[in-house]
Amino acid sequence: MENIKHVLDKGYVRLVDVMGSDLSVVNAARVSYDKESKELTDRDRKLIKFLAREGHTSPFRHAFIQFEIYAPLMVARQWWKYIVGSDHTMDAWNESSRRYITEDPAFYIPSAEQWRAAPMNSKQGSGEPIATSKGEKFTYFLNNYIEQGEILYNQALEAGVCAEQARLFLPAYGMYVRWYWSTSLQSVCHFLNQRLEHDAQKEIQEYANAVLEFIKEHFPVSSEEICVK
Ligand SMILES: Cc1cc2nc3c(=O)[nH]c(=O)nc-3n(C[C@H](O)[C@H](O)[C@H](O)COP(=O)(O)OP(=O)(O)OC[C@H]3O[C@@H](n4cnc5c(N)ncnc54)[C@H](O)[C@@H]3O)c2cc1C
Repeated sequence: MENIKHVLDKGYVRLVDVMGSDLSVVNAARVSYDKESKELTDRDRKLIKFLAREGHTSPFRHAFIQFEIYAPLMVARQWWKYIVGSDHTMDAWNESSRRYITEDPAFYIPSAEQWRAAPMNSKQGSGEPIATSKGEKFTYFLNNYIEQGEILYNQALEAGVCAEQARLFLPAYGMYVRWYWSTSLQSVCHFLNQRLEHDAQKEIQEYANAVLEFIKEHFPVSSEEICVK
């Protein structure tokens, strides 16, 4: 299976590393009885089901997965809220910095068909796609707006302004950022359980779907029990 999944117009989720498998979950639980499985059996599958059902979550924290993610800042901002999966304990988040960066900025630009209307019965989220003729206008406006921001950003840099302030000219919500996210199987499934839901923003749902494909491949039994409701 490919270790990179493309998301949105320029983004991706790349699987960097995996530590463990469904067997790690099983053996973390079986150590209580000084037992170990060498291969996943039907009994082990039942044990995973039992652990998930009863909320015995610690065995799911013995497997780790590391991703590189390239996503618009609005998606990163939502992702970063998973404190347990991002910030401290044994999990980690490291992100590119525009204080030093030399890489050209890149932006998420929805195509004419990808603009969505405000929802009918809710204060947050989005509804049906808007007419393509209207969408074309907004794609055009957004392109112009970004271009203007980049011109001012480059002018500031050329005039000797430091990168950490020049970036104020870059339209931030749609600007792509890159980060490493290393997390336990439990944390990643918590993220998936929330961000695959219909009330999550569509753009982060697309990233969650890419993450889910990797998780299903490497943890087929556990993912079925704790990731996909
Ligand atoms: C559809 C949607 C809309 C949202 N809208 C908003 C919004 O408008 N504004 C906003 O600020 N956020 C919003 N959020 C983010 C949300 O409030 C959570 O911050 C985010 O979903 C991360 O979930 P979490 O806190 O469970 O994750 P984590 O921080 O990773 O925590 C994981 C779990 O660990 C446990 N835990 C974590 N910290 C503690 C603690 N200190 N004490 C005890 N147990 C703890 C909890 O069981 C928690 O569920 C939204 C999320 C979704 C999915």
